[in-house]
Formats: sequence, C-alpha cells, structure tokens
Amino acid sequence: MAEKFVKEDSWSNSRYDTFNRCRTEYFFDKVVSKNGWDSRNCTKTEREAFILKNTRNRYAWSGDLVHTAIEDWVDSFRKGSVIDRDTILSKTDTVMRQQYRDSRDQKYRDKPKKHNGLVEHENSLEIPDSEWKSIHDNVKTCLINFFYTDLHKSITSVGVEGVIRPERLDSFMLGDLKVYARPDIAIKSKHSIRLIDWKTGKANDDNDLQMVYYALYAVKKLKYPIEAIETDLIYLRENINKSVVVNREILQNAEDFILSTHSEMAEFEKSVSKETSVTDLSPATSSNTCRLCRFQKICPNAVKRE
Ligand code: SF4
Repeated sequence: MAEKFVKEDSWSNSRYDTFNRCRTEYFFDKVVSKNGWDSRNCTKTEREAFILKNTRNRYAWSGDLVHTAIEDWVDSFRKGSVIDRDTILSKTDTVMRQQYRDSRDQKYRDKPKKHNGLVEHENSLEIPDSEWKSIHDNVKTCLINFFYTDLHKSITSVGVEGVIRPERLDSFMLGDLKVYARPDIAIKSKHSIRLIDWKTGKANDDNDLQMVYYALYAVKKLKYPIEAIETDLIYLRENINKSVVVNREILQNAEDFILSTHSEMAEFEKSVSKETSVTDLSPATSSNTCRLCRFQKICPNAVKRE
C-alpha cells in the first residue's frame, strides 16, 4: 500500500522542543504514531500512539483556549464586527466545560482529532478540584487582562489595515529547508513591523528564542529590514510586555541553530525505524517531564518519581 504521508524537510520550534525534551517522546510522535490515523490498517501500538499524540496536558489546553479566544476576537475585529469581552468570556467558559467533559468521558479515544483529550484523564492523575478551578480562573484572568494590554490598545488604534494575522503554519525558507513560524499577530506601520506572541504562563526567558525565529520570518518572508522589526512577548496572566532584542548576530545564530538542530533530528530519524526497540532510546532527564507526557502510558522508559 502506498505511503499516505510524504516526509517533508522542515523545522519548527515545537518539533525541536519535543526532540530536545526526550528522544523517546520524539520517536513515539514522529515514528510510531505515523500511520495510526488509519485505524483499520494500522497496528494496535500505532493507533494507541496516535491517540496519545493528540492529547495534551492541562496547561497546554488552557493556553490553547486563550489563544483561540483572542484569535476569534482579532478575526472579528478584522471583519469589522468586533465581539465584546463578555461574549468572549462566556463562549470560552462554555467550550472549556464541554471539552473538559469530553476528555473526562474519553471521547477522544474514538475520535482523537475531534475531541479534546487531556493527559490528566488518560493517565488517571489525581487532580484536585481546586487545581481545575485555578486552571479555569487563569483562562478567565488572561482573557480579561487581554482587554487592558498595550496590545489591545495597539490593535484598536492601528485599525484593520495595520493588523496581520499570519495564517496557521506560516513558514519561510532557509535554503531548501522549510521553517515553520507563526507569530500570534503582527502589527505594521509605514516602515516597521511589531511581531507579538501572547502567553498564559509565568513570564520567563525560555520563550525569547521563539521571537527570534519570528524575526527571521519577518526578514525572510515579509521582507522587512532587521532595524524595522520589534518583537514582544505578552504575558497575559501578569500583564507583562517583554521586548526581545534582535540584531544581525542574533539572527545569524538562530539560522545556524535551526540548520544544526535540523541535521541532528534528521540523523536521529535515519537511525530509527518502526522496528527500533523503545528501550534502546534515551528517556527524559526529569520525572516531571514524564508525569505530564502524552506517551507515558505506553512508555517503558518513563522516569519514575523518587
Ligand atoms: S514518559 Fe518520559 S521517557 Fe517516556 S516518552 Fe514521555 S517524557 Fe520520554
């Protein structure tokens, strides 16, 4: 039977994050789960890996909910029929409750792409109600804060013409390599562009590099000179706006990093196949990574808590 997926030579920050976090996770994600979408023709293990690949932990889930809600608001603004704050809050609340129930009832096991699946339910983790409540409250706080951010002010003041929302999975080329990069939003003025990503977790430096890739995207794809590019991370929970400096040297280092890590991932992929024994691969270095890992249930390498 012909292969349905054509392997593409590409790089993305999230792909590298998985690779860097744990080679076993990367193997489950890129190799084992690959044919699992085809439930009639794949093995049980492939199907299981595919189901688990499509789950996420509660932090990623709540972040996605906030992203979707703000994207909806931005889209409504661009269409000239702006949705008000209370509508956004109430719609997100309804979706969140429904997705929680779907996950608790494990609907994703039949339709992994359609229904939300949470690692916490899949792995029967004991999460107190107070913790679920704080996840819910954090989503609400982030959304309320969005309406007080400098970003909200900037969008409404530049108007529809000044707002670019890169489509899903936008990309640029580094030689023959396709690099995926999609900032949440870009705001342009006559001679400059401001690339923005919003986050729902605590402010930290780990996300700075992602903004450098977005700056590369603005140079390579949107054709802006480096001097005309600003990059900002907006931490919604604390309402912090963090600017990330980019210059020629930083962008060159980022290009080198993308190319070298792409080679590392390609080497790894060449060295494994469906026949590779999972126990031959290295695990994550921390039990915390394993605790919230999508593949924990089928992983013989999971690092147990001390
Ligand atoms: S459970 Fe741990 S070792 Fe196994 S794939 Fe996940 S992160 Fe890696």
